[in-house]
Amino acid sequence: MPGFEFFGEEERKEVNDVLQTGILMRYGFDAARKGVWKSKELEEAICKTMNCKYAQLVSSGTAALTTALAALGVGAGDEVIMPAFTFVASFEAVLSVGAIPVLVDIDETLTMNPEAVRKAITPKTKCVMPVHMCGSMADLDALVQICKERNLLLLEDACQSIGASYKGKHLGTIGNAGTFSFDFVKTVTCAEGGAVLTNNEDTYIKCDGYSDHGHDHKGIDRGADLHPFIGYNFRISELHAAVGLAQIRKLDKFLEIQRKNHQQLKTILQQLPEISFRVIPDPAGDSCTFLSWFLPTEAIARAVVVELKDQNILAGNFYWFDNNWHYIRKWEHLKNISSLNNLNNPQKEALQRLNQASFTASDNVMNRCISSAISLTWAEEQIMQRGEKIVNAVKKTLLKQSVPA
Ligand SMILES: *Cc1c(COP(=O)(O)O)cnc(C)c1O
Repeated sequence: MPGFEFFGEEERKEVNDVLQTGILMRYGFDAARKGVWKSKELEEAICKTMNCKYAQLVSSGTAALTTALAALGVGAGDEVIMPAFTFVASFEAVLSVGAIPVLVDIDETLTMNPEAVRKAITPKTKCVMPVHMCGSMADLDALVQICKERNLLLLEDACQSIGASYKGKHLGTIGNAGTFSFDFVKTVTCAEGGAVLTNNEDTYIKCDGYSDHGHDHKGIDRGADLHPFIGYNFRISELHAAVGLAQIRKLDKFLEIQRKNHQQLKTILQQLPEISFRVIPDPAGDSCTFLSWFLPTEAIARAVVVELKDQNILAGNFYWFDNNWHYIRKWEHLKNISSLNNLNNPQKEALQRLNQASFTASDNVMNRCISSAISLTWAEEQIMQRGEKIVNAVKKTLLKQSVPA
């Protein structure tokens, strides 16, 4: 799954190019940098690889979401519809621009249920933010249709799904904007970094300025730049971009290995009729960073988790229902409005309401789900052993369940 598994000579070479000039900043110092522009090169590589017009690198995936929301004009009073299963960055970014996160149920795609989105729309809704979790995609045809009908913005969080596609288009390039993360455990990593993708020139120009103190980047030097709007500092460094550049060149290889290992593991788990699999709207576009599977009940899933732990293979198999980063159930800090800075009243009211909200439909999916991370380094033999251990854990659990105590 993570690109750090394939770190090597190529990354070192790109970083050394930057160290040789000593210009670690992505803007300015034109003469001293001797033609080394790693951030620009990486942005071009992203556009080419993903077949989109513009890419703006920033310092993280969270910064990418924040920048995209600001560039799309999402702010105070605006509601952003997001799924209950995601990474905490989703609501962090929404809150940081002053907007209101509205959480909706997911379904067996492990992404937002389009019907739940429809029901959550109010006159204040401005943006729908699907999160393409665990390497695969949301039902984008349905979401695009809803956004068209209701005149809403579509912002795709593709931070976990670099290289995945939907009906031939890369995730992150289908909505008004999309985001990637290059943090240390993502498919392409540069330690810390992110990108906003868009096909809209105006959105891109706003992202470019917003992520660098509002600089318009039109002056003969930084001091001569104008500031048409307020921005912040979400810049990436040349050192990070250099690593990302070497990594993105390996993306096709990562995807090929992930797809092969994913298929092998799935074939083993498929032996058991009690195991079912995540619904993938376009299976050919799955980046296969995870194999996500379901057990018939929560009790069985929990018992299988215990069994995996006993067999020492719980590492790499995620039971998100109990995880406090990815699912609403354990986001106490959000539900308690534990914010260091004072939030605006509509934000506080919305977070307060989360304490009464029920996510039964999501619970009934998440409490049966286990996601197995797909490693780039597995040998066929290791996948076989892993798969068989999982199958045995499930068989043992089912047998216990069928015998009354
Ligand atoms: C990793 C991630 C982010 C944030 O990325 P960072 O680079 O860690 O800030 C946002 N959304 C999702 C779904 C993620 O998995």
